[in-house]
Amino acid sequence: MLLRRYFRGPYVSWAQAVHPVSDDERGLLVWLPAGAGFAYRLYPGGAPAIEEYAAAPLQRRTWVDRDVLILHPPGAAHSVWWFFREGAFLGWYVNLEAVLARHPGGIDVVDHHLDIVVDPDRTWRWKDEADFEACIDRPGFWTTAEAAQIRAEGSRVAARAEAGVFPFDGTWRDFRPDPAWPLPQLPPL
Ligand SMILES: [Mg+2]
Repeated sequence: MLLRRYFRGPYVSWAQAVHPVSDDERGLLVWLPAGAGFAYRLYPGGAPAIEEYAAAPLQRRTWVDRDVLILHPPGAAHSVWWFFREGAFLGWYVNLEAVLARHPGGIDVVDHHLDIVVDPDRTWRWKDEADFEACIDRPGFWTTAEAAQIRAEGSRVAARAEAGVFPFDGTWRDFRPDPAWPLPQLPPL
């Protein structure tokens, strides 16, 4: 089991227990099945100021409904998610993020809020743009210049999706987990 965590400043804002699949020149590949443990902080009213994170404790939950294969390409400021329901491929998701650390226990990233949804026919759209824009120039988030870089990373990945090149070339659309893999459980956080 590995942990995939999001940090905001010193605070973990999201933690997913995932099963390691492979780690090679394509990147770190992990499997997040329905039933796995995850935890997040709930913020009524959107992302709070950084010092308010501690007031919203991590809530432990169970991941439901969809299974996800997640690729962290080496050195990339994004991860690519393959969504499945009962073995059927539903589409991709590009989570824009910065890698803080790779370590034996998993991977820690800073989520950039802005995401891209890519349908199975490879049409795509931005997601959570308003959330992303609202955090520009806030302490603990991103500057105007960093926001432009984040968006540029998204545009590069979207162009790959349009062109149908890896990882949007059909790779792992038929992915099946080994039935012997245990459900990843969250450790005490
Ligand atoms: Mg995101």
